[in-house]
Amino acid sequence: MGTPDVSTPVWPVGKRCAVALTFDFDAEALWIGNDPANADDPGVMALGHYGARVGVPKILELLSEEELPATFFIPGVVAEQYPGHIHAVLEAGHEVAHHGYTHIPADPSIPGRVEEQIDRGLEALDKVAGIVPLGYRAPDGVSSHLGQRLLTDRGFLYDSSLKDHFAPYRIILQDGSPGPVEIPEQPTLDDWAFGSSSSVSYKVMQSKQQVLSMWNDEFLELRTWGGVATLLCHPQITGRPMRLSTLRDFIAFTRTFDDVWYATCGDIARNFVAYE
Ligand SMILES: [Zn+2]
Repeated sequence: MGTPDVSTPVWPVGKRCAVALTFDFDAEALWIGNDPANADDPGVMALGHYGARVGVPKILELLSEEELPATFFIPGVVAEQYPGHIHAVLEAGHEVAHHGYTHIPADPSIPGRVEEQIDRGLEALDKVAGIVPLGYRAPDGVSSHLGQRLLTDRGFLYDSSLKDHFAPYRIILQDGSPGPVEIPEQPTLDDWAFGSSSSVSYKVMQSKQQVLSMWNDEFLELRTWGGVATLLCHPQITGRPMRLSTLRDFIAFTRTFDDVWYATCGDIARNFVAYE
């Protein structure tokens, strides 16, 4: 067995690492996916609705001020429910990618579910915005070999669901053939872990300084390694006042280096393919 490959990827000229700002716009669908009974609880629905009502507009405002590109992963039902949001994201020049259809885990043990979630999500993004997404992120992080095969068959350029590297790489399917490019995540760069708490999802919340310290430190080492810092935020969390200021300060920190490539996941995947 050979030595595992941890070589530094090739980035655009003058760049040493990449920052991918990504937003999972789950809205109410996340909570209904967790428990269908939540649909009848206005208190729980409000958590998701905040992401649509305030989170996405505030995040778009910040990205515009910073003149930075981002990738929005959006479930099909959310695209259908909030078509104006999808159009606003696209008109601002950001990327829209696939995030399932109803935000339920695509469990391969349930016949037809994985395929249905991918295909209905594709139909919704086409119907609402006329787009064919380049990439996919698994709702609740539930991936499967069947899902990776279907993404490949449907022509997806990339996946961004796994946490098994610090840099983009090519997924190898179970039969040994090439799958999509993976844009990996780090658990420390996911706002869900420490940014919100509620009666249906209790967590210990962390302060701005704690989160910023973690994000900055993770970014610093990823930069040294020449990796990609895939920041995974949710508008219903990072769209809250203190969380948005955390994101603003994190961006400011990364800007103190002149060798950071800010890019959409699609552009990062294309760059990987160009040097593969
Ligand atoms: Zn999600």
